[in-house]
Amino acid sequence: MLKGNFPIEKFKGIETPFYYYDLNVLRQTLATINEQTEQHDFHVHFAMKANVNPEVLRVIKEAGLGADCVSGGEVQAAIDAGISASKIVFAGVGKADWEIELGLKNDIFCFNVESIPELQVIDELAKQNNKTANVALRINPNVSANTHHYITTGLNENKFGINMSELESVIGQFDGLKNVKLIGLHFHIGSQITDMTSFQALCIRVNEIQELFIAQQIKIEHINVGGGLGINYEHPNHFPTPDFESYFKVFKNHLTLQPNQTLHFELGRAVVGQCGTLISKVLYVKEGTSKKFAILDAGFTDLIRPALYQAYHRIENLNSTGAEQVYDVVGPICESSDTFAKDYSMNATQRGDLIALRSAGAYGEIMASQYNLRKLPKAYTSDQLI
Ligand SMILES: *Cc1c(COP(=O)(O)O)cnc(C)c1O
Repeated sequence: MLKGNFPIEKFKGIETPFYYYDLNVLRQTLATINEQTEQHDFHVHFAMKANVNPEVLRVIKEAGLGADCVSGGEVQAAIDAGISASKIVFAGVGKADWEIELGLKNDIFCFNVESIPELQVIDELAKQNNKTANVALRINPNVSANTHHYITTGLNENKFGINMSELESVIGQFDGLKNVKLIGLHFHIGSQITDMTSFQALCIRVNEIQELFIAQQIKIEHINVGGGLGINYEHPNHFPTPDFESYFKVFKNHLTLQPNQTLHFELGRAVVGQCGTLISKVLYVKEGTSKKFAILDAGFTDLIRPALYQAYHRIENLNSTGAEQVYDVVGPICESSDTFAKDYSMNATQRGDLIALRSAGAYGEIMASQYNLRKLPKAYTSDQLI
C-alpha cells in the first residue's frame, strides 16, 4: 500500500494523537494557486474556518492570501496573523453586534450580508461608529452542488443567503441606509465539490443576476464566488494538490465580469486539506465474532468528519508492511458513531502501530473538542520536525 511521506523516526516520543502538517505540501498548493490567480488577476481569501493553526496561517499569510471569516474570533485571528484588514471578508448568517463592530473598527474589506435585518443592523452600528461599511449581498443562487446535503448551501431551502425573490426589496433598502455601501455580490454553493459543472452552473447564474443590477445601473465592484473546491480524499498521495487550473479556468471561461470588476474566491479545504494528517496509535486489536476492530487512541473529538458527515479519510498503517487485513477502525469515545472506517483494508496491525488519517488538514484540528474530558490534540509541522 502506497503511503505518505512521514518522518516516523521523529514521531517517536511524541504523545499521540497529534496533527502533523506537511508545510511543503501547503507551500506547493499555495504556489499553484498563486500561479493561477496572478495569471487571471483573481483574489483568494482563505476560509479560516477550515484551519487556524498559527504555523499554517503564517505560511498562508506569507503567500499573500486574504481571509474569509465567519465569526469575530476568526476576524481577530486573521488580524493577529498579520493578514491585512483590506483582504478580510466577513460572512455568516448570525453576526452578533460585537462581531460587526470588530469588523467596522478594523475597516475590513467587506461584510457579506445574508439578510435585510442584518443589513439594517450593520447600517445602524456603522452610523454609531461614524463608519461606512462595505457590503456584498450573499445571494442564494439556487444551484445544486451535488455534494453531501449537510454541506450544500446554495439551495433555496438553506438558511444561508438572500433568495432571488427577495432581491428587489433588498436593493430597495440601500436608498434609506446611508452607512452601508454595496460593493459586491457573494455566492457560495457548498463544499467538497469536484464536479466542475456545478461551478459552471454558478457562473451562468451569476451572469443572469448581474443583468439585474446592470439594468438598474447599479455598479458592482466585485463578485465573490465563495469556495467549495474539493480534494481527493481517496488518493492523497497521487493528488496532493487539487486541480486549480481547471477550477479557475471555469470562472475565466464562463463568468462575465464587468469592466474593472474583480473576482474573489474563498477557498478553505482546497488550500489546507491535503497538508494535514492526524497521527494516532493503535491501542488494541479486538477480535469480534465476525470482525476485527483496530481501536485507536484518536476519536471523533480529534477528527469529527467521519462521525459528522460519514466522510472518508484514507488510513495508513505507518509501522507495518504486513499482508492487508480488514478492520473496523474505531476510536475510544463512548458513542457508536466514533468510527473512522468500517471494513477497511490496511497492513496487518498490532498494538503500538502509528496510524495516519490522511487529508485531515481542513475541518480537522479546528473542530476538535474535549468531549469525554479528552485532551485537545497538539500539532507539529514538517518545519519543526526536521
Ligand atoms: C465554508 C465556507 C467557505 C469555504 O468552503 P471550502 O469548501 O472549505 O472551500 C467559503 N465561503 C463561505 C461563505 C463558507 O461558509
